[in-house]
Amino acid sequence: MVAVSPPAKVLVTGANGYLAVWVVKKYLEAGYAVRGTVRSLTKSAFLKDRFSHYGDRFELVVVEDITKDGAFDEAVKGVDAIAHTASPFHFKATDPDELIVPAVRGTTSILNSILKHGTAVKRLVLTSSIVAVLEQTTTPRVFNETSWNNSAVEAVKAKGSAVGPATIYFASKTLAEKAAWDFVATHKSEISWDLVAINPPYVFGPSLTPALTVDDINTSQRDVYDTLSGARTSAQLRNQGNWVHVAVAAEAHVRATHVAAAGGERIIVTSGPFFYQDLLDAAAELGIPNVPRGEPGSTKGTQILVNVEANKAKELLGLTSATPLKDLVEESVKDFKERGYPGFTA
Ligand code: NDP
Repeated sequence: MVAVSPPAKVLVTGANGYLAVWVVKKYLEAGYAVRGTVRSLTKSAFLKDRFSHYGDRFELVVVEDITKDGAFDEAVKGVDAIAHTASPFHFKATDPDELIVPAVRGTTSILNSILKHGTAVKRLVLTSSIVAVLEQTTTPRVFNETSWNNSAVEAVKAKGSAVGPATIYFASKTLAEKAAWDFVATHKSEISWDLVAINPPYVFGPSLTPALTVDDINTSQRDVYDTLSGARTSAQLRNQGNWVHVAVAAEAHVRATHVAAAGGERIIVTSGPFFYQDLLDAAAELGIPNVPRGEPGSTKGTQILVNVEANKAKELLGLTSATPLKDLVEESVKDFKERGYPGFTA
């Protein structure tokens, strides 16, 4: 286990993504140099502007198809660590391959490129997900960093597309993370780097991407927009999940890079459970006008189904404070207003 400290260079894949832009920002603020991979320089031009004050500490390279063998051969050369975030996240897939192929092959492709050309790499931080950990449940269960979402993988194997887009996404993240751990076990004697998986739940918080239309908001923060703009039914408002602030999820990647003891660990980073109604309750408490009130009190007494025991984020990474949901709502509404989104005019 080797700590990779600034001014080391980190490769961040999918650098234009919602979470990745925060990851890049946190690495640069911590003193690292960053090479980001993107599919399109035109679409990602905003990154050059946003991080221009870091001069040659920030560079972008194009990796058009992450599923191709050798796609990352050039990109991994000369970097000390890698944060592999690129992977599709949406709930629209009609065919399992749509998500599973880029998630798994994108991961094995970068692993093989590191094996051949990543001679300076000492750590790979993989953006996995809590959906690779927990299984869908209708009764209360406790999950921890030893848990795996095998049921999503089995469901996709048994039923294919019929499982629906959410389970396809869950399987894609589980299979991609398993592929990474399997690769490490298989190539143990040949590699001089170690793996850390970061397993965040729903990541919420303002995007750093300018000129983002409502339709371009990433899947998780879109959930916040839809809830606060009144697009949720009563039943949906009673749904529950776990969440973490995007800044905290990003910081976890940076700490997972420089904390030597994180090597070989899966690390859940969460602020805890929430009901969608809680977002509306927070908006009411803040006195934010024009946000629907939903049905206050409707989740009172409802059991939390997914209980997460996760201590490594605190013990290994020193991430101690859970962000209050109220802060998230306040920041999100401010962001939606500044962007002039429907329902949130200033
Ligand atoms: P975004 O959709 O904002 O970003 C996804 C990134 O991956 C983009 O750079 C995108 O490139 C790239 N990507 C997607 N599909 C492909 C593909 N087929 N080939 C190459 N690149 C691709 O998503 P998030 O920022 O929300 O998610 C980033 C990572 O974090 C993902 O691995 C996701 O599973 C994980 N995660 C996200 C959570 C969340 O709540 N947001 C929670 C837990 C984990 P392009 O822009 O060119 O399409």
